Amino acid sequence: MKYALVQNFINGNFLTSGTSCFLDVVSPIDGTYLSKVPLSTTQELNKAVHAAKAAFPAWSKTPIKERVQVFFRYKFLLEQHFQDLARLVSEENGKTMAEAVAEIEKCIELTEFACSLPQLITGEVLEVSKGVECRTEHVPLGVVASIVPFNFPSMVPNWTIPNALALGNCMILKPSEKVPLSAGRIASLLKEAGLPDGVFNIVHGATEIVEAICDHPDIEAVSFVGSTKVAKIVYQRATHHYKRCLALGGAKNHIMVLPDAIPSMTAQNVAASMSGCAGQRCMAASAMVAVGNTDHIIQKIVEEAKKIIPGDNLGAVISKEAKERIERYISEAEQQGAKVLVDGRNVQVKGKENGTYVGPTVLDYVQPHMAVAREEIFGPVISIMRTNTVDEALAIENASPYGNAASVFTQNGGAARYIIERASAGMIGVNVGVPVPREPFSFGGWNESKFGVGDITGKSSIEFWTKLKKSTVKWNPESGINWMS
Ligand code: NAD
Repeated sequence: MKYALVQNFINGNFLTSGTSCFLDVVSPIDGTYLSKVPLSTTQELNKAVHAAKAAFPAWSKTPIKERVQVFFRYKFLLEQHFQDLARLVSEENGKTMAEAVAEIEKCIELTEFACSLPQLITGEVLEVSKGVECRTEHVPLGVVASIVPFNFPSMVPNWTIPNALALGNCMILKPSEKVPLSAGRIASLLKEAGLPDGVFNIVHGATEIVEAICDHPDIEAVSFVGSTKVAKIVYQRATHHYKRCLALGGAKNHIMVLPDAIPSMTAQNVAASMSGCAGQRCMAASAMVAVGNTDHIIQKIVEEAKKIIPGDNLGAVISKEAKERIERYISEAEQQGAKVLVDGRNVQVKGKENGTYVGPTVLDYVQPHMAVAREEIFGPVISIMRTNTVDEALAIENASPYGNAASVFTQNGGAARYIIERASAGMIGVNVGVPVPREPFSFGGWNESKFGVGDITGKSSIEFWTKLKKSTVKWNPESGINWMS
């Protein structure tokens, strides 16, 4: 085992779980046995919630300008430990070092945003009638929870930690049991940055801990990021207990390519979108709708895909099961009549025979009813469907139950606007393959890609992590004069 046993982080201390149930943590890169993660007990969750609840009065009463000083220092520490943090992300998740570096860069950007919250959180005040003023202020919720997926071991936790904490909440993080190592590093850096004990806690586990979080009477809000299947379960269960919940789910993102799109730029973007992080991004384009004659662009996509080399500029998928699932999707599509232009099945990387790699895969003549066209594959696969008109392309995009992102590649501004107005997705790209809004803009999809109100990052996250206090204040100025004289 390369690293020590994964521990919970409760009230500022790393603690070994008392559970007898552990899961192995294995690197997808080459099968190295990294560690064991505990499936913690509900008593351990209770202990973490107790610590967070005890820390809340002092932390929430600390002025926000003081609270964000912790995050200025945290940002500095992220920069200082940049390479180590990126290496750990790559090791436990399987993504390339370049992708892991980009992930830590994003953590820094997220933290920078949290440092700007004092400028964004100011309330409103107005004299509504003589001597009477109404005012609003954002007040923290209390103990909140953040449940995260495997595909960004550091970035998705950092979507929630800096904002929720800077806004005065105390948190329980439940990392993905597949990639639990980066969370411990985050906890150490937050402690080094001066975060008071109990404000941030980690409880490792899987389904049982997530259910206990949703049921816990002292947790006010639950943020979830993961598959749509689990997002629905968490949203229903947390709101059943009258908690505030924002649950981000899976995706099936469409890229619509019009015949006037710039071929090389379009091909590079399509290939990068479908294969970045081995296709394991909720923003990955996994369906392309080619409108009209786009053969020349598809040819270029094939050329670009062939430049993507597993184990070199393409990382591993998370597990053997994921590799098998992705390859099954490709085989089924082929059996149903799709043409495999680039085939990523049965890939082996020399020297990393125990790694779980799938090569870039381009499927053409996919029909909208096929599973590869409708379902989230979460692998480096693009399914190309052909249509004659933009409206047919939009009908395919609109029929998806998901709605995270959609993109259009064209040089025609009118066509782009037509698609922006009609695509049923929360995040739209024009000549951009991965249209992630950057801070201070907010990240969040529509339809079955997100349940709950607000977004998880940027300005709209303020609404999720705080409640509004409205006060109406009346003083008689005359009484002030009398008192002074
Ligand atoms: P997942 O849904 O399997 O797991 C997410 C979290 O839920 C993990 O912490 C896991 O322990 C827990 N969990 C798993 N099954 C559970 C159950 N039955 N009950 C309660 N909790 C359970 O997701 P994943 O495989 O880790 O991540 C990949 C998914 O996340 C993809 O669908 C991807 O699109 C999605 N994702 C979405 C976004 C977004 O912003 N919409 C961002 C990143 C990832």
